[in-house]
Amino acid sequence: MAIGTPTAHRTLDALIIGAGVAGLYQLHLLREQGLNVRVFETAADVGGTWYWNRYPGARFDSEAYIYQYLFSEELYKNWSWSQRFPAQPEIEQWMHYVADALDLRRDISFSTTVTSAEYDEKSGRWTVRTDSGEVVDTQFLITCCGMLSAPLQDLFPGQQDFAGQIFHTSRWPREGAEIAGKRVGVIGTGATGIQVIQTIVDEVADLTVFVRTPQYALPMKNPSYSADDVAAYKARFEELRSTLPHTFTGFEYDFRYVWDELTPEQRREVLEEIYENGSLQLWLASFAEMFFDEAVSDEISEFVREKMRARLVDPELCRLLIPEDYGFGTHRVPLETGYLEVYHRPNVTAVGVRENPISRIVPEGVLLADGTLYELDVIILATGFDAGTGALTRIDIRGVGGRSLKDDWSRDIRTTMGLMVHGYPNMLTTAVPLAPSAALCNMTTCLQQQTEWIDECIRYMRKNGYTVIEATEEGEAAWVAHHDETAAANLISKTNSWYTGSNVEGKPRRVLSYTGGVGTYREKTLEAAAAGYKGFELR
Ligand SMILES: Cc1cc2nc3c(=O)[nH]c(=O)nc-3n(C[C@H](O)[C@H](O)[C@H](O)COP(=O)(O)OP(=O)(O)OC[C@H]3O[C@@H](n4cnc5c(N)ncnc54)[C@H](O)[C@@H]3O)c2cc1C
Repeated sequence: MAIGTPTAHRTLDALIIGAGVAGLYQLHLLREQGLNVRVFETAADVGGTWYWNRYPGARFDSEAYIYQYLFSEELYKNWSWSQRFPAQPEIEQWMHYVADALDLRRDISFSTTVTSAEYDEKSGRWTVRTDSGEVVDTQFLITCCGMLSAPLQDLFPGQQDFAGQIFHTSRWPREGAEIAGKRVGVIGTGATGIQVIQTIVDEVADLTVFVRTPQYALPMKNPSYSADDVAAYKARFEELRSTLPHTFTGFEYDFRYVWDELTPEQRREVLEEIYENGSLQLWLASFAEMFFDEAVSDEISEFVREKMRARLVDPELCRLLIPEDYGFGTHRVPLETGYLEVYHRPNVTAVGVRENPISRIVPEGVLLADGTLYELDVIILATGFDAGTGALTRIDIRGVGGRSLKDDWSRDIRTTMGLMVHGYPNMLTTAVPLAPSAALCNMTTCLQQQTEWIDECIRYMRKNGYTVIEATEEGEAAWVAHHDETAAANLISKTNSWYTGSNVEGKPRRVLSYTGGVGTYREKTLEAAAAGYKGFELR
């Protein structure tokens, strides 16, 4: 039978793409309201990010106890974390625990990729096709495809000719990769690259790190939890449930200080104290002014640089690894454990590839523009993702009049509150641009809010006899304008990074994540719903 020939025909009320944090909860919610719903997932099991990212050292940067679902006290309290920032295997186990507890797997088709989705204006329904040849007719198409799930893995000419092995961090083999005693190169020093580098350094023979954009890394404090620690955070369940959705970033903490109200000495004291906390608090719970005021940004950036200089010591390492040309917090801030000291080891070489970029991969290793060859057995691509848009533009999605989402977003990345896109009725989205997402957000907080909004929206439609919802052109224009205005005031908009789409050649520039705050975003989406879905047309 030819590939793509339909082997089944299924009719659903809702089809969800993706079985990560968002997709699992969305399935549970929609099943609870009695919909005939099914999830399609490329991976062989649940977990999303925590299924795919099994590279050495993968772990949370969010405190584990705030990354849980908050809709069920029982679900929350029947799981206990071993550490403040646990590693991927434990997080994946937690996702299995959730799938088991809610009996979700029976409604998930694993190892199945959605390849296309086409909207039919007459019926107001979607026809969805998968790589297994299945054709599904569904009223609602709900994308829970992830903000950071479309890996950038074919970046360098000659990759296919490399004589050794190449791994993208998010496609790390389940059975593990043989790196012990090998000459290993890591390309990329973002949050993921840092976790890999500090973890594999003891195992490999030689480690070559190709550094393009240095990062302001903060030290992580990651204590193991005793039974008392676990009991203490569980006792905070109600407090966390009432706090997290309303803070600026969906973390338990919020910006606490006003720059102008403190003397220089007091500011220094505050920065030192928060730095010692060993979490993302220096970024997300110190001074909000760092995002808006260049002078404050300079001062806090210099504070972090000073800390890094003291550890790196060597001027050449400082030049390569300490950022000078963008402000602290305008990139995703990584947490590290002994990362900077890695570069003092005799088997580690840091290679600057900003002025002298990688020109190609050759059978022996990595070749730079000036002709220098680094001979390697294994190349690890910590090169990140086509964030926010990539997962959806890799599906052939056709809306009203056959318009293509890939084409639309190649011109201009627009959504209505990150929940819908004008021209794509009955397609509801999570973790897409113009909503709070992996940038500046504890994702479980944001994803719970988005999936709950979608659940309520569908309930409302069914109760009131509507079958189709579409974001209006004017509503979308208003949201995009508000988003852009908020983003323009934020220094994030001035830095090149995946936050602004500049890690992908040709991607239209826009701050991808909503920067008005998680609590504010939540209020605005709820206000729109309460006003009879203002900005959306129901029919
Ligand atoms: C290494 C790493 C560390 C992170 N650490 C944190 C952290 O500490 N705190 C935090 O808040 N966030 C973190 N994040 C962000 C993380 O992505 C979110 O926290 C969250 O897991 C996203 O859940 P999701 O359900 O939106 O998407 P995902 O977990 O990405 O799941 C999406 C799923 O959709 C599937 N899918 C996509 N397209 C298709 C298709 N066409 N057909 C079928 N299936 C498809 C994918 O296979 C994937 O399994 C991290 C991300 C990465 C990559």
